[in-house]
Parts: sequence; C-alpha cells; structure tokens
Amino acid sequence: MKKKTVKLSLVTLILIAMFITLVPTSSAYTFTGYRWNKISGIRYIADLKYSGAPNSTYKEAFETAVANWNSAQNKIRFNLSDLNDSSPFSVGTENYPDNNRFGSCVCVGTPMDGYFTSISARINIGNSNVSNKYYTRLSSATHELGHALGLGEENQRVAVMNQTRNREVIYNPQSDDIDGVNSRYPY
Ligand SMILES: [Zn+2]
Repeated sequence: MKKKTVKLSLVTLILIAMFITLVPTSSAYTFTGYRWNKISGIRYIADLKYSGAPNSTYKEAFETAVANWNSAQNKIRFNLSDLNDSSPFSVGTENYPDNNRFGSCVCVGTPMDGYFTSISARINIGNSNVSNKYYTRLSSATHELGHALGLGEENQRVAVMNQTRNREVIYNPQSDDIDGVNSRYPY
C-alpha cells in the first residue's frame, strides 16, 4: 500500500515537471501593445514608405524583409511603395556610430485599442555590421518590421525578434515569430 503511494506521487511529480518545462516553449513571442486595425477574415494592407538614406542597398534590405514577412504569414501585408508618400508608417535608416545598436522602431498607437497611428522602423547604418553585412542588415530590417506587426522582443527562443540571435544566421521570420503574428491577429 505504501509503495503504491510513493509510485503515484512520483508519477505526479514527473507530470508536474513536464508541465512546467512544456508551458514556456508553447508561447515565447511577446507583443508591444500596438497592432493593425485588422478586419476579421480580410488581410490588412499596411502601406509603408521608405524615408532612409538614398542608398538602394538599405532600401533593398527592407524590400526583402517585407517580401519575407508577406510570404511568412497571411494576416498583414506590407506594401512598401514610393506611392505611399503621405503614409505615417515609414522604414529607413538611422546613423549612430555604435556596433551594438542595430536599429529601432518607434511605434505610436491609439490609447484605447493600440491601433498603429505612426511607425518609424530604422536600421542603424552607423553600425558597420549593418552597413557591410547583407544578412545582418536583412536580419535587422526584418526585426524592426516585426515590431511594426506588433511583436515585442523575444530572448528565449530562436526568433528574428530575439535580440541576441546570430544575425548572419537568423534573418527570416522563424516559427516562433509567425506563431506570434497569428496569435496577435487570430481573426
Ligand atoms: Zn527590437
């Protein structure tokens, strides 16, 4: 009788341990609190303009990041175009001589719902790794665009939103990032 009780409590302990280790892996992504005013069942089109340094290399990083995000999920479609001159949502460059700074994204939204009202996503071309390395540049642009989808920093999993990722290796949206977008816009 006593032995059976010990066995049962061991099983319980193992189950508890499994539960504790499994739960954090299921949702590692985080949110900024801002989002697009998406309508249920319709892919939202987010018009972006480029307002960075007039260097096609930097613009191309965002064009590639836009294409990769657009093919990775079907909730929000970025439309980066010169026709969007009056858009308050911009991507571009900043210039700080700091190799630990890869970019920034300043997002503003409505106080009640957190719908984006303005976005400034920037890659830091003062960082020589961003200006010189194709994949680091792309990874930085993809990360800042992740903020423009409503994703926050994620420092536990393999993710383009992970600030400590190897930018030469992780430059496309990863499954954790895509899970985050689908969870942000479940409708
Ligand atoms: Zn970030």
